[in-house]
This record gives sequence, C-alpha cells and structure tokens, in this order.
Amino acid sequence: MNIYADNAATTKMSKAAVDAMLPYLNEIYGNPSSLHSPGQRANEALSGARERIARLLGCEPRELTFTSGGSEADNQAIISAARQGEKRGKKHIISTAFEHHAVLHTLDRLAKEGFEITLLPVHENGIVLPEEVAGAIRPDTCLITIMYANNEIGTIQPIGEIGRICHERGVLFHTDAVQAAGHININVKEQGIDLLSLSAHKFHGPKGIGVLYAGKGIRLTNLIEGGAQERGKRAGTENIPAIMGMAAAFEEACKGIEENCKKVTALRNRLIAGLKEIPHSVLNGDERQRLPGNVNFCFEGIEGESLLLLLDEKGVYASSGSACTSGSLDPSHVLLAIGRPHEIAHGSLRLSLSEENTEEEVDYMIAAVTEVVAYLRSISPVWRDLVNGKQQFVIK
Ligand SMILES: *Cc1c(COP(=O)(O)O)cnc(C)c1O
Repeated sequence: MNIYADNAATTKMSKAAVDAMLPYLNEIYGNPSSLHSPGQRANEALSGARERIARLLGCEPRELTFTSGGSEADNQAIISAARQGEKRGKKHIISTAFEHHAVLHTLDRLAKEGFEITLLPVHENGIVLPEEVAGAIRPDTCLITIMYANNEIGTIQPIGEIGRICHERGVLFHTDAVQAAGHININVKEQGIDLLSLSAHKFHGPKGIGVLYAGKGIRLTNLIEGGAQERGKRAGTENIPAIMGMAAAFEEACKGIEENCKKVTALRNRLIAGLKEIPHSVLNGDERQRLPGNVNFCFEGIEGESLLLLLDEKGVYASSGSACTSGSLDPSHVLLAIGRPHEIAHGSLRLSLSEENTEEEVDYMIAAVTEVVAYLRSISPVWRDLVNGKQQFVIK
C-alpha cells in the first residue's frame, strides 16, 4: 500500500486544476501586458481568475496581488506593514513563537533594523489567547501577524476575535492563511483581516503561485522591481497557467469545504484514537480546534527520523514536522513553543490527511506506526533506561 499523508507539505494537483492550466500552457500563451489579441486573451483570463478568487475571500479583485507562493506573500505583507509603520515612528510588531519561518525570518530581519518584536506564547494547546494579544499592544505597535492555522500541529487560532481587537486598536493585522485557505471558510472583511497570504499547492493547486490580499489603504512595498504588473507592486510577467490552476483549485476546494471537512475530520479522529493507544504517546495541539486533516504525535524514546524512514518502507509517506525543518537536526520550533522538551520533540510524527485518504488507509497507518514505534523502542537504549527506571518518563 502507498499512502500519501503529507498534505500539509504539499498536495497532489486536482484534475480541475490541471485541466484549467493546460490551455494556457499550449494555446493561450500571450503576455497579458501585450496589446494584441493573444495578449488580451491572457489578460482576460488573469482578470477573471482574480475576480473568482476575490469573491471566495470576500474582497475586491484589486486588493489581490499574485506572488510566487506563501513565502513571498508573507514577506511582502510584513515588510509593507513595517515600512508603513516606520513612517509614523511605529516599530513594534506582535507575532507568535510558532509561525512559519517565512514569517519568523522576516521578523528577524526587521529586528536587525531596529524593530521590536514581541512573540506571544501559544500555550500547551497551541492556541493564542486574544486577551494576551490585546495586552501586548503598545502605542508604537504597527502590525500583528498571527497564522490562521499552524502547519505542524494544525491548531486554528481565534482569527475573528484577533481581527476585532486589531481594528478597535487601529493596528494592522496580517494572517498567514496558507494552511487554512481552501480547508476552512475565510472572509477577510468579516474577520477584520488587513493582510492575508495563501498558497495554491496546499489546496491541490500548482506550486510556485500564491496570493497576497491587502485591504484598501495599505501601501504594498515592492520586493521585486521591474515592470508595472500587479499595479506596480510585483514586477514580472504573470504566471498565467499557474494562476488559472490556482483559481480552479480554490473554487473546487471552497465548494467542497463542508463535505471535505466532515469526511477528513472523521478520518483524523479515527487516526488520533488509534495512535493514542500507543503507550507513552501524546497528541500535539488542541484536539478539537485543529485542521480537519492534521494529526501530530510525540512518542517517547524514539527518533522521528528513524520512524519516518521505516514508515516510508511500509509505504506511508509522513513528516516529522514541517518540510522546511526536516533535514536539519534541530527539534521543531513549534513543538518547543508548546513546551515539549527537546528529547520529546525529536520523536514527533505528523500525518496530514486529505479527502483522498480512506478509512482502510487510516487503519493501515495505525498498525504501521504502532509496529514501527514498538520496534524502535525495542532497540533504543533510551527506552531501556526509561523502562528500567533509570530515567523518568516525560509522557505518562
Ligand atoms: C507552506 C507554507 C508556507 C509557504 O508557502 P510556499 O508557497 O511553499 O512558499 C507558508 N506558511 C505556511 C503556514 C505554510 O504551510
């Protein structure tokens, strides 16, 4: 059996997305900035895609900028808000300790320029408290950036409440909604969101394309200088095939949101229940307020890397956290942020499901993980010490 359970890293493109791209790879190849008919056909497609995506987010088409993906959108959102704040002498930004690196590393860069960054705690359940957000706001706060849903542990933040607080206090609010878009209903106006990032390849669209929403009155700072594409805010000939694929994938995902949510949540709950049976294991992140497809566990006494390799041999394709941190031996900053000690954070496993997974696959995964964890423990010196009482168990 081959089971893809790494949908938080990327998803398989849907047929609708591939079909929407093909004409723009083959026949309709004009540059949307060209005045001739082939160019104008491409330009019409571009406007159409922008309108369709705007409708689904509850905003105006001109408030959307196409980017190369979620990382670029996060960078541009944060840099733009920082530059706008700086002009008014406001150089304080609030975020959380478990953001994606596209956010955290951009904040690091701003910190080197003299911005002050407050990283809020996310507590053991992986959720930010709105009152702590409110409490951190200062007269010089120019931006609050808090992710919609976490990519490793799947917890969903109280975005509407945070948006309301930001508006009452006159602070810009950005949310990295890369994990949420297409999986949870979003309405930027109703939720008080000023800036939002999304990425197509997390909802069955193509890689290398994303969207930055920026509400009226927000001046975007260019990260890429050049031509006048995207109202002069993001130079470079638009990636029309990818944009068409993204619009089709987003429409399909939003249309199926209720049904998929129900289906995937049931699979997730079954998987969580099965993995909880493994002794000395713990679910990371709140059990209810989490993405439909996200399962993330720590198992005491094992290394996440070995677990992944043995699962791969059994045809289960999973992750130990985010794709960006695997490959480095540092434990996940997200698991550390929710208070897991280093040795426990190393033994983590993320299984992220989609509507294409089945109950049969879930049962196979439960059996495979149970077997591999037992095997790894049987050869682990750390586990021997735990069982012999030479070391204390952290996970009861
Ligand atoms: C995947 C991801 C990103 C990066 O998006 P890319 O399109 O791969 O650049 C940013 N934030 C979160 C939460 C993600 O899951």
